[in-house]
Amino acid sequence: GQCVKVCPVGALVENNTVSELSRELKKREKHFIVQMAPAIKHTIGEEFFIAPGQDVTSMMVGALKKLGFSKVFSTDYSADVTIMEEGTELIQRLTKGKGKTPMFTSCCPGWVNYVEKNHPEFLGNLSSCKSPQQIFGALAKSYYAEESKVPKEDIVVVSIMPCTAKKGEAQRIEMEDHDRVRDVDVVITTREFAKLVKMNNINFAALPNGQEYDSFMGKGSSAGRLFGTSGGVMEAALRTVATILSEEKVGVLEFEEIRGFKNVKETTVEIGENKLKLAVVNGIGSAHSVMEGIKSGRLYYDFVEVMACHGGCISGGGAPIPDNLDVRRQRMEGMHGFDKTSTLRRSHDNPEIKRLYENYLEDPCGHKSHHLLHTTYSDKS
Ligand code: SF4
Repeated sequence: GQCVKVCPVGALVENNTVSELSRELKKREKHFIVQMAPAIKHTIGEEFFIAPGQDVTSMMVGALKKLGFSKVFSTDYSADVTIMEEGTELIQRLTKGKGKTPMFTSCCPGWVNYVEKNHPEFLGNLSSCKSPQQIFGALAKSYYAEESKVPKEDIVVVSIMPCTAKKGEAQRIEMEDHDRVRDVDVVITTREFAKLVKMNNINFAALPNGQEYDSFMGKGSSAGRLFGTSGGVMEAALRTVATILSEEKVGVLEFEEIRGFKNVKETTVEIGENKLKLAVVNGIGSAHSVMEGIKSGRLYYDFVEVMACHGGCISGGGAPIPDNLDVRRQRMEGMHGFDKTSTLRRSHDNPEIKRLYENYLEDPCGHKSHHLLHTTYSDKS
């Protein structure tokens, strides 16, 4: 993903995708729906002279509506679905011996590609859960299509993502259904989205407050939002796993040890009778030594989060420039600040998630989920 920042070919590709998308949106021949990744809300403002970290969700929604999308949704929502699935999977691996441990997160395609190429011996450790981007797409072409009575072939799912690795992820052969319909059709990066806005002469910073996502795939918890920063996936998972395993109504919400910019962050959490050893790997540069440590028995963990970019998706290859440590800190603080004041801090409390399982999926990791929301990996060494 980092290459796009410096390479002129990357810039060319950016322009082509964006102008084509802009044209297609105006034609309104298809049913365009859009999702935006958690990190975008705390980074895109920088393209319009707004301070790093500031939550500009309302402006994003306003701009996307002006651009002609039929529905404006959020990847925070599908990150909550990821937690329901991945949290359940973790519990099954730990308590029922269903699959290898440590379990590795699988929401970052930079990391998944790395395991497939360099450490195929760990493929079975990757969570089988698709990433929030792909879960959103798979649900858009099934749950949303059925409930809105729009044929899935007429729906175009556009994602606004922090990196170009997400474009590769959307193209994976595993991300098509049995009718060869893709989960996600078009992926543009944060900076490409800014170009789309500028190209259409939308005054982003002047868009009004209070604009909301459409229902019923727009609402996300602040746990889902935390996916955009290092340690966030782990923290979101712990909030839900702790509730399921200990049956406590209000457990610990904040896990300070796994926040911040350290390369490898470790903690042990006691939940009911279980003691979980956890690690968060911040940046792909530290992944190799952790994996060698696990292989040799020097390190023991139950659950490991890895995000390829330093600081997580807030510093993805498609993020606004400059992208230095100071800016990254502000973005991360913006995200944690949003979580602190949120009234919906756990994925399983999200009413739109409850609706999804009640009306459509039934159980996390159940038959329908397995078919739509889980995937496989292959040895590409
Ligand atoms: Fe993309 Fe980086 Fe986020 Fe991974 S951590 S999904 S490579 S932006």
